[in-house]
Formats: sequence, structure tokens, C-alpha cells
Amino acid sequence: DTYTVAFLGLGHMGGPMAVNLVRAGHRVAGYDVVPAAVDAARSAGVPVVGSVAKAVSDADVVLTMFPSGQHVLDAYRGTGGQPGLLALAAPGTMFLDCSTINVDEAREAAQLALGAGHRSVDAPVSGGVVGAEAGTLTFMVGGEEDDFHAVRPLLDVMGKRIVHCGAHGAGQAAKVCNNLILGVSMIAVSEAFVLGEKLGLSHQALFDVASAASGQCWALTTNCPVPGPVPTSPANRDYQPGFAGALMAKDLNLALNALHSTGVAGRMGPLAAEIYDTFAAEGGAGQDFSAIINDIREKSGP
Ligand code: NAD
Repeated sequence: DTYTVAFLGLGHMGGPMAVNLVRAGHRVAGYDVVPAAVDAARSAGVPVVGSVAKAVSDADVVLTMFPSGQHVLDAYRGTGGQPGLLALAAPGTMFLDCSTINVDEAREAAQLALGAGHRSVDAPVSGGVVGAEAGTLTFMVGGEEDDFHAVRPLLDVMGKRIVHCGAHGAGQAAKVCNNLILGVSMIAVSEAFVLGEKLGLSHQALFDVASAASGQCWALTTNCPVPGPVPTSPANRDYQPGFAGALMAKDLNLALNALHSTGVAGRMGPLAAEIYDTFAAEGGAGQDFSAIINDIREKSGP
């Protein structure tokens, strides 16, 4: 099946994702509010249009890849008296939001879409720009079973692992829960390495023990925050991302919001969000999130 896709948000992730849809033979109408993003997508082979109305007019699927939930809700509803995507799209259009946004916002977006006579799926991703370019993203999907099957051919083009997580918002819920584990575990692994240094333990010795013991986790065995034990980890290339500190801070704040709105008495999540907010504000925004170890070491004294 080929789809007509309005692809809105041609940024770091959206640009290469749109390219993959074009290459797979889908009809894509790309749109972004930033001219540089439009130009980059056009040179990469994505057909672009000059307005949302043009992008959406004959779309089967309206795919959004925006920075935040506010962008998604504003675009759906329209701002400044302009009609939004929901009003511009033909009834029954599939609204597929791949942005990473709050669970509550995803549910609201879905209700708005359904209320306007459309279909809705949330499908945030992991895998970064590298995964977007290679078409190997993981999609975490929330929505009705038949809507999941309807968007699956598109997700298969852009991703490698596609998981239907449950009802509307469940994709965002899965993403936020996973990244809560990731953010907290990276801090724990980093604290352990700095503690090991102070105790005279070599990085390799700690790695050899913990990677095969109960401390084993992705933050240690794949994204190891010290250079050496895992040669492919960002620590070996001066902490070039990888997964940038700014994005970890963003995702932990989404986790924090979810903890608050559900009343879960989490303590590590809020602390991790605060730690990564400070890290991002103090120069870590563009570094891999594993560079949090340098922050811990610097604050630990000689
Ligand atoms: P980005 O800022 O590079 O791209 C977002 C694009 O959306 C921008 O080009 C912006 O101009 C455009 N945009 C905003 N409002 C718009 C509107 N109303 N109409 C049209 N275009 C609009 O961000 P990104 O890195 O591509 O990330 C996109 C989403 O994916 C975010 O929610 C992010 O959290 C998530 N994500 C990013 C990564 C990553 O590694 N970059 C990984 C996983 C998930």
C-alpha cells in the first residue's frame, strides 16, 4: 500500500524519516515553519509544500514530528484564528504523532482528533538521528488495534522494532518509563565509577565485575560512561552524542510530569530530572548524557 503523507516537522529526526518514506514510494508532502529545515529536506529528495493546508488537503496520514506537546496541540487546533490540522484534514484522516510529548498531552491530542472525526495514533521513537537515517528506529505505539495495523507499513519503513503498547498515550507512557530507567541508571553507574576511582578501583575491574553481576544495565554495558571498557561508547569520542544531555533532560521532565499527574511517589525520577536540568544548563546540553560522570567527578573534589 502506498500512502499520501503530510509530513510536518522536517527537523533532525523528521527530515531523514521523511526521506525514507519517499524512498519507499509513499507520496510525501513535507512542511516546516523553518526555511532551513525545508531546504535541507528538499535537497534530500522530499517534496515540500508552502503551507499546512496544501500539505494536509489530500493526505491519508498527517504525521507530526515536533519539539513538544504544545507544538502538537497548537498545530492540531490552529492558532491566531488560523484553522488547525484537524479542521483542514478530510474526515477520517489518520493523525500519527511521532513527537516525544507528555502522556496527558498525547491523550488530549487523541481526543481532539477523534472528536473532529479523525483517527489517532501516538508513536514516539528511540534511536536518534542515526536510527532515523538508517530506518532503524524503535516505535512505541499507542492507539486502537486497527489503527496500529493501518500505520504499521509506514512505521516499518522508518523503523526496525515496532511495539504496540496499548491505548492512546501508551506509546508515550512506554517511552517515558524507559527513559526514567535510563536516566537514573546512568547516574548510578557514573557515581559508582567515580566512587571506584576514589577507592582505587580500576575502571576495567569495576566493569568486569558489574557487567557480569547484578549491576548490569545498558548504561554500563553499551553506553559505558568511562572510556575503555566499551570502545564504541560516547566516552571514547569525547562524549559526542549519542543521546544528548538536553534530550535526556527533556525526557526526564516528561517522566516527572507523569509521576506528578499520576501521584506516584517516585523520588529518583524527580532527582534525575533536576540533575540533568543542571547538567544541560551548565554546558552538557550538546554532550552525550553519559558525560554526567564528569559533572559528578568535578563536584567530588580532589
Ligand atoms: P527538531 O527541533 O530538530 O525538529 C522539530 C521541527 O519541527 C523543527 O524543524 C521545527 O521548525 C518544526 N516545527 C515546529 N512547529 C511546527 C509547525 N507547527 N509546523 C511545522 N513544523 C514545525 O527536533 P528533533 O530532534 O527532530 O526531534 C523531534 C521530536 O523527536 C522531539 O519531540 C524529540 O524529543 C523527539 N526525539 C528526538 C531524538 C533525537 O535524537 N533528536 C530522538 C528521539 C526522539
